[in-house]
Amino acid sequence: MSLDLPRTEPRPDHPATDEVRRRLEHARITRLAQLKALDDAGPGPDDPLTSHQKEAIQRALKEIDDAVARLDRGTYGICQGCAKPVPPERLEILPHTRHCVTCQRRAA
Ligand SMILES: [Zn+2]
Repeated sequence: MSLDLPRTEPRPDHPATDEVRRRLEHARITRLAQLKALDDAGPGPDDPLTSHQKEAIQRALKEIDDAVARLDRGTYGICQGCAKPVPPERLEILPHTRHCVTCQRRAA
């Protein structure tokens, strides 16, 4: 059995990739459950509030997919506004965010 040197050591200033993947996966499962709950209990697909909520959840799911893609590319956790690392505390609360607090405020 020949093993190459492991290349998966977590970088000290970033949460381990596996941990981030778990968080994103959890966020995805939560959103999918919310969508299903709306389908099951909502007044119907034509209700404006329901469709508005569904759009918001689908947008979040897209953000989560994008975050997984950034994780694969190695650009996860880098602010897309100022190219600085997003603080880990923020990524813990919003694992799919693409901006630091400053740039988020500027965009909002
Ligand atoms: Zn920024």
